[in-house]
Amino acid sequence: MMDAMEMIKDERQGLPSASGMQRLFLCPGSWQAERKCQVDEESEDAALGTILHAHMEHETTPEDPEDAEAVAWCYEMETFLCEKHLGMKKDWTDVQTIREVRLFERGRLFSGKPDMVAICNRKAFVVDYKFGRIPVTTAERNLQLSALAVLVMDRCEVDEVSVCILQPYASRKDPAVCRYTRESVEQARAFFRACIERAQDEHAPLKPSEKACRYCRALSSCPAVSLALVNVTSSDLTAAWEQWSPEKRREAYDLAKLAEKRASIVKSKVKADLEAGVEIPGLALAPGKKAFTITDAAAAFQILNGLFPDAITAQAFTGCCKVGITDLDKLVHSVRKAADAGAKVAESKDWLRKTLAECAEVKISDGSVKEIGGGAA
Ligand code: SF4
Repeated sequence: MMDAMEMIKDERQGLPSASGMQRLFLCPGSWQAERKCQVDEESEDAALGTILHAHMEHETTPEDPEDAEAVAWCYEMETFLCEKHLGMKKDWTDVQTIREVRLFERGRLFSGKPDMVAICNRKAFVVDYKFGRIPVTTAERNLQLSALAVLVMDRCEVDEVSVCILQPYASRKDPAVCRYTRESVEQARAFFRACIERAQDEHAPLKPSEKACRYCRALSSCPAVSLALVNVTSSDLTAAWEQWSPEKRREAYDLAKLAEKRASIVKSKVKADLEAGVEIPGLALAPGKKAFTITDAAAAFQILNGLFPDAITAQAFTGCCKVGITDLDKLVHSVRKAADAGAKVAESKDWLRKTLAECAEVKISDGSVKEIGGGAA
């Protein structure tokens, strides 16, 4: 149980959250397991997601052009979808919107914070933004969205709730929209009640899987994950692989990814120990490498050409320079955008590559394994 201070700090008030429903369903034991773990620092990707959510909430524009374009796309798409599904007026005068407000289920089963809810004509439209690059479970099968539909139906005077996910970095195909009526919301509520009751049982089972464990706080201490990893790593892979079915190979692939996550946790703990002066046999903290970088290429050329005008010519100097394509993309896009406010990042990239085709080359790297069919919620 949480103590009073923890309860005050925890905006979820000790209840399961809509964003954790998928994991709770896949691994009922994760609810108890996560509560015993401290909250980790946000990863870089999660921190970027938080910043972009804040831009959406406050209707501000990120500095980075790619992020600015992703945010603009989300606004455009949510406006289009709301107008289409709510039958509202174009000026939005008849619409009430709620952004980033935590809602509680009427019986205090769970809570959740929809990114945006628009309400009109006794209908609600809920949007959840995902700024990761891995596509998440589609709207029809997404338990987070289903839980949000329950919360919005409880809080707002509406007869139906439509939900969708906008994920500008993963897919811009027509976003799927799923509609909940009062009846389907009651079915979802009953489903979540059963999931939560199962999770609150002190003997709730731990069921490791890549989808369940990917963002679980208990990953570094979970005994079920340890056991699953042992089962795979102790097999004779050379002999066993040929015998394994495609499903078993997929399972091994997912566990390998969990093993990588665990390995990165071990590495960061070792580094933290060494930085704190803890001695670990055979390991020491190597000093950071010194890197000399030219920050002003034009000034560097002026100096060297002034000293060796015949040898260090403009052509010889630029032969030593490598153009940072990401920075050049940003520069070109900002120039095109200044000339045409409707210019899109993808179009600017395409334009740049076509324009500079004669003085560039395209290399194709080895293909890599890619997940299809939706990742973690
Ligand atoms: S790490 Fe995986 S198996 Fe362990 S509690 Fe979390 S979700 Fe469940």
